[in-house]
Amino acid sequence: MKISFCGAAGTTTGSQHLIDVNGSRILLDCGLYQGRRDEANERNRHFPFDPASLDAVILSHAHIDHSGNLPSLTSRGFKGNIYSTFATRDLCQIMLADAAHIQAQDTKWLNKHRTKNGKPALEPLYTQIEAEECVRQFVTIGYERPIPVADGVTLTFIDAGHILGSAQIVLDLVERGRKKRLLFSGDVGRGDNELLRDPAPCEDVDLLIMESTYGNREHELPTQANHLLRDVLVRALERRGKVIIPAFAVERTQQLIYVLHRLAEAGELPDVPIYVDSPLAVGATEIFRLHPECFNEEVYRFLFEKRDPFGFENLNLIRKVSESKALNDLDEPAIIISASGMCEAGRVLHHLRNTIEDPRNTVLFVGYCAEHTLGAKIRRGDQEVPILGDTFRVRADIQTLDSFSGHADRSELLGYFDRIGGRKERIFLVHGEEDQSHSLAEALRERHDGRIEVPAWKSRVEI
Ligand SMILES: [Zn+2]
Ligand SMILES: [Zn+2]
Repeated sequence: MKISFCGAAGTTTGSQHLIDVNGSRILLDCGLYQGRRDEANERNRHFPFDPASLDAVILSHAHIDHSGNLPSLTSRGFKGNIYSTFATRDLCQIMLADAAHIQAQDTKWLNKHRTKNGKPALEPLYTQIEAEECVRQFVTIGYERPIPVADGVTLTFIDAGHILGSAQIVLDLVERGRKKRLLFSGDVGRGDNELLRDPAPCEDVDLLIMESTYGNREHELPTQANHLLRDVLVRALERRGKVIIPAFAVERTQQLIYVLHRLAEAGELPDVPIYVDSPLAVGATEIFRLHPECFNEEVYRFLFEKRDPFGFENLNLIRKVSESKALNDLDEPAIIISASGMCEAGRVLHHLRNTIEDPRNTVLFVGYCAEHTLGAKIRRGDQEVPILGDTFRVRADIQTLDSFSGHADRSELLGYFDRIGGRKERIFLVHGEEDQSHSLAEALRERHDGRIEVPAWKSRVEI
């Protein structure tokens, strides 16, 4: 039995872990590595294994850093099943198509520079057609339904509470009479989520591969999120300005819609129009409506009262470019939720250009912004920022709420670990910058005797 850490080891993106057991090869996640263009290009185009040699892929959730390189895998010879939950499959359908679109644009941009410098033009990592073909290899399973996926390997998905359809992956492995239970956490939610159930505890775990994104950071409490959001919005709208919320199209946007719905119902929100301006977010919202099996009790009750959690008066979902452009001329207070969350692409860039120099306006961040992104620059208080080729002075009020984070913080990760039963003889911390993973490793060593490691990229362990 071997585990090879082929991605998201020592970093947060490009999740890929390869399990060799009983002569079968199973890949957990096939995420896109996101970082400096050249490095990302190199890593995403070359797998450290032959895709055709894999027997199956198991996908924890639809986020691009976990699913985004699947089309490369299937177009380079992988013919087996990709196991996921129902909602993960549906989300992948639109997210991989969107990723292909971004790849095409990126490649065009890169090629402009390459041809100028006499270098050969690049092909995009994968096309929209390849993304669509990849989704045909999905095989979907509900939570808590054990299913054999290879000789001596039984898979069970359990709730991860991170995004719609997100799962922890439980593998019951048998090799030459030896039995081991391996748990891969995927990305772990915080619990007390507006929409989702808490991460489910797992029993009898021998081997644990666990995320550590916020291994050394604490967030505001999730239960404070609604009040904090209300306070920021009320203050911002008193100035009669616009509030721009850059948000991830999947999960964060729907979570915001639901919270705004509840606040509006309770009469706690100023009576202003709310726009969700992102075709991907609008598509994702439709998928959310199709998957009540993923929601927590409260949202269920809401649905039973025949109410749509993702639709209410004042809320406008925008797909058309013309309607999006019309928002530029809007001369009244409004809330505009738009992607991308890190302000690297998407329609939010136009809204920022249009609003960031007016002190009546507010830009509110509710999610993670990776280093070097435009979102990170605005958040940390840069006075001038480049947006789509021009420089802008930041005069709008900049606010940040991290209570909406989709990732467990340090205390929540420790709580998650404590609820896992079994010997937990070997623990591998992945999906974190090194300082975050090592800090969490230290905290775990204080409470547990098992062997706790932070594996290096491309390293392999024998079990
Ligand atoms: Zn995720
Ligand atoms: Zn992730």
